Amino acid sequence: MKVRSLEAYGADQATVAHAAAAALLAYAQHTQSQALAHVQSLEAPGGQDLIELPPTTLRNLELTRTLRGEDSPTLLSLLDTCRTGMGSRLLRHWLTHPRRDRQQARDRHQAVGALMGPPGEALRQALRHVSDVERITARIALRQVRPRELAGLRETLAALPSIRAALGPMAALPGSLSASQPAQPVAELARHEQALQPDAAILDCLTALAVEPAALVRDGGVIAPGVDAELDDLRAIAQNCDAYLLDLETRERTRTGIANLRVQFNKVHGFYIEVTSSGLDRVPADYQRRQPEFVNHPCIDIEAGRHPVVQSRLQETRGAAFIANHCRLDARTKMLVITGPNMGGKSTFMRQVALIVLLASIGSFVPAQACRLGPIDAIHTRIGAADDLANAQSTFMVEMTEAAAILHRAGEHSLVLMDEIGRGTSTDDGLALAGAIAAHLHDRNRCFTLFATHYFELTAFAQTHPQALNVHVGAVESGADIVFLHEIAPGPASRSYGVQVARLAGMPQAVVRQARSTLESLEQAELARQDQVDLFAPQSTEATVAAGAASGAPPLPTGQEVLDLLDTLQPDSLSPREALEALYRLKDAAKGTGA
Ligand code: ATP
Repeated sequence: MKVRSLEAYGADQATVAHAAAAALLAYAQHTQSQALAHVQSLEAPGGQDLIELPPTTLRNLELTRTLRGEDSPTLLSLLDTCRTGMGSRLLRHWLTHPRRDRQQARDRHQAVGALMGPPGEALRQALRHVSDVERITARIALRQVRPRELAGLRETLAALPSIRAALGPMAALPGSLSASQPAQPVAELARHEQALQPDAAILDCLTALAVEPAALVRDGGVIAPGVDAELDDLRAIAQNCDAYLLDLETRERTRTGIANLRVQFNKVHGFYIEVTSSGLDRVPADYQRRQPEFVNHPCIDIEAGRHPVVQSRLQETRGAAFIANHCRLDARTKMLVITGPNMGGKSTFMRQVALIVLLASIGSFVPAQACRLGPIDAIHTRIGAADDLANAQSTFMVEMTEAAAILHRAGEHSLVLMDEIGRGTSTDDGLALAGAIAAHLHDRNRCFTLFATHYFELTAFAQTHPQALNVHVGAVESGADIVFLHEIAPGPASRSYGVQVARLAGMPQAVVRQARSTLESLEQAELARQDQVDLFAPQSTEATVAAGAASGAPPLPTGQEVLDLLDTLQPDSLSPREALEALYRLKDAAKGTGA
């Protein structure tokens, strides 16, 4: 587009070609998602320099493809007796880009003449060991090179002296010394002392490669023996693995006195030592617990847990490390109120806890250093906002319906994840509901709860609710930027950094500036406000009943009210969901009357 418009403005061909090359290079860098260190510029051969070969000519003359689309027999397939891939590529280019410049054609004639017969044959022999250096160097620049390609480069560099020797007799070819004729290219090359000289530093580097390295680095066997002492030791262990493990097992049995101690292997942890419960009291202090443990008292105690899916995505897409986090819940601490910036890792943390509990419960090894788990009877989650348009439910309605179901069902042995409950409505309504729901979970369900919220007011919850604890995901500001630490730390977060995150997301500068200034005004107004509502202050009896619905705690009706409620129900007109909710209401109402 840009190039076409340049032409429309009357730019000359060279300018257009230059612009096209720059645009192509930028496009290639964009699609490769990396700087193309090995491509500094692109050269578009000017149309004036070439003999024009329209596509129909290329096709009809069957230069590089037959009319049926095959590679042979064509003019190229007949001419191409090149020893190397680079040679074949160059020949194809020359054949399809003939130049009008006659001098170049004369030089090539001379070169071909010089290479006919025995000198050329010696050179062809020497070229047998040359790999496709153009391709290999490009792959090095893109960090995609494979060990065998590096070995090919090493072999090529080692072949340079014999190529020089084969070129030697051509250094003084007749005609190449004549002042009236330009130097013949092959002779020119042969006379250049520095040309075809292997670079000692690069050769030295490449000697670290094994003689015949594996195709891929991950297959091992890429580095030559003797280059790195630690690697040699590890290889010796790998090669004598069985004997080493048997020896280790015998040694550890003797040292600990645990007769049934075994060295085991699995894909999650690699090698580990297994000790059954009968030997637990003799486990030495230098052993580290790695996993499975089920206990009878209530607890979810995870050490250095990870989210397996997020971790592998991070690794694949960015090569970034996942930050492991602990989660400690027990009879004294049953709720974590999690605050912190957007993108901080709150949802990831909550989900990883649920996944680890689930994996442990199905008998799997878990992505954690250790995990101790009490009895668990359910995992409930209220995460994200999803409209249920098909059932005419708004985002907020879905949010409340799901939360209500959790409040009705969760018990002491349940794990509940509440992610930003209340965000689907106005701030005041949302905050009031979130506070009431947290209180219900804490006081009545008494379940294990991970409660992530952006309502800072809720960080006061832990002061009045002894089984709740504030934790936050860390972030540090650096100028206008923000760095997420993804680490769960004790205490409440100080702020949410929403504006900074919006900036990172590419929000227009004007919007970010406006939002920042509004935020400052709001914060000042907040400071000036005298009456701070205490969300968790004890309620009057009247208020308790009135606030019952909002807090999620059912009001305490009389027996007559239960009957009235029953009376108002019209089973035939209820949807399945409404029927279920009505059933829950009745059950709670009956509980409230002591029935
Ligand atoms: P929001 O409040 O906006 O919903 P959040 O705090 O819930 O954000 P997450 O969605 O959990 O944040 O995480 C955002 C991103 O941060 C993840 O997609 C992941 O790339 C990265 N991340 C989260 N946790 C970790 C971690 N422990 N280690 C490394 N990266 C992480």
